[in-house]
Amino acid sequence: MSKTVAALAFSTMMERSNTMRTLYRCILASLCFVLASPDLAAAAAPDKPVFRAGAATSNITPSIGSASNARSSRPEATHVHDELHARCLVLDDGQAKLALVVCDLRHMSAEVAANAKQIIRETTGIPPECVLISATHTHTSSGARLEEREGRPYYDYGAFLTRRIADGVLRAVNQLEPARIGWGVAEEPTQVFNRRWFLKAARGPIYGAHDNIEQVDTNPGYSGLLNPAGPVDPQITFLSVQSTSGKPIALLASYGLHYVGGVVPGAISADYFAMFADRVGELLGADRKDPPFVGIMANGTSGDVNNIARYSDEELTKRGPQSTKRYLPYEKAREVADLCAAKVMVVHKTLKWHDHVKLASVQRTLTFERRRPTKTEVEWAEAVKAKKIKPMSTSRYSTYSTVLAYASPEMPPTIDVILQTHRIGDLAVAAMPFEVFAEIGLELKQRSPIRPLMNISIANGSHGYLPTPEQHRLGGYETWIGVNQVQLDASVKMVNALVEMLGELKSE
Ligand SMILES: [Zn+2]
Repeated sequence: MSKTVAALAFSTMMERSNTMRTLYRCILASLCFVLASPDLAAAAAPDKPVFRAGAATSNITPSIGSASNARSSRPEATHVHDELHARCLVLDDGQAKLALVVCDLRHMSAEVAANAKQIIRETTGIPPECVLISATHTHTSSGARLEEREGRPYYDYGAFLTRRIADGVLRAVNQLEPARIGWGVAEEPTQVFNRRWFLKAARGPIYGAHDNIEQVDTNPGYSGLLNPAGPVDPQITFLSVQSTSGKPIALLASYGLHYVGGVVPGAISADYFAMFADRVGELLGADRKDPPFVGIMANGTSGDVNNIARYSDEELTKRGPQSTKRYLPYEKAREVADLCAAKVMVVHKTLKWHDHVKLASVQRTLTFERRRPTKTEVEWAEAVKAKKIKPMSTSRYSTYSTVLAYASPEMPPTIDVILQTHRIGDLAVAAMPFEVFAEIGLELKQRSPIRPLMNISIANGSHGYLPTPEQHRLGGYETWIGVNQVQLDASVKMVNALVEMLGELKSE
């Protein structure tokens, strides 16, 4: 469409909507005129739509004995340090509703998200495209993967989880009350570190999972480091809702940090995400509120970012001796949570509150080609299988059998992924079903026509790591087949689609 045609179409649309509005006001005015009682007239003429918010948490802790970490061979959970929750926030602008759910889980399977959305549609009427369900990526939780038959033999954890997520959203809807909303962006640059590094030549060649030589190493130790292979996103983007009388209802934040960890082996825990939720409630004076305040921390874009401080040799010389503090279990997670909550609170004091904002959502399903192994990788895998060579790499994340599985004609050739964008006044949310690299999130924030943009990853599904094509060329753990599941340029297609979707929201 040419600019002029587009402008014309737009102005006609505006004219039409203005006419409609005038007509609507006329009808309302005549209604008011007909109704004799002023009380009745006020009740029948909701001239100004009411903005409402409700929030609730739903306990999703699996039973002790079910795998605390679906992807590793670690022993099953023996203890619960703190309960896992689906943290649910529902917003309602009088016309549309939006449900934002963040679960204390390592992953969010597309099946669990889709099934929960079906129940949510039946019980609340909120359509699936207006429901975002994500995982925090706490590494000490159940993985919510139905296909891995997690939770057996005690019970079907996937079914329990699906139901509990839907319950949480229904309870948030039940608690909708007139509210106001504000949003802001804080920064905490000291707790995020890119974990992929170029190494000094003295460290020797870096071997990948399939004995190929790579240019970067993930979590490479502490010496002989040259420079990180990518950036970090220090922003904590957040929204806050309170009742019209000023009672805090919920605060949802997003930070690009993989997780913190430092927990007791065998214990289930929601990690720093839940500690942030508690602390921010405490700082808002929101404890013992009725209904209870709900704090939420989502995972931003942290596929290549963790909480382990690493510096180049030069930087280390400049910084001098590093702290040798040994943290007690959970102490580091609490420290990070407290720092993030304090940073959010500084910005929270300056928030502009809105009595009403418009909500809108756009969802798209993209079909990606599944990653295929190269000829060299297949030859290597076949040689290892036939015991002709012994692999140098001992990685359990992408083995010869992973390569052969991805080369098999039985492997479905494509993966459907759900992308979502939501508009909450002048704040936008982008939801992505991957462990997304920080630079992708930064690019999105930079190209988004609506700002600020809150990125939420591991949302509505979980289809592995998402590096950029450039990072694929560098290699490293996150780029290996199996750990990464989709075509090498998937990030480019995803970002372009999300920017278009945000554009659609902008023009609404
Ligand atoms: Zn991860």
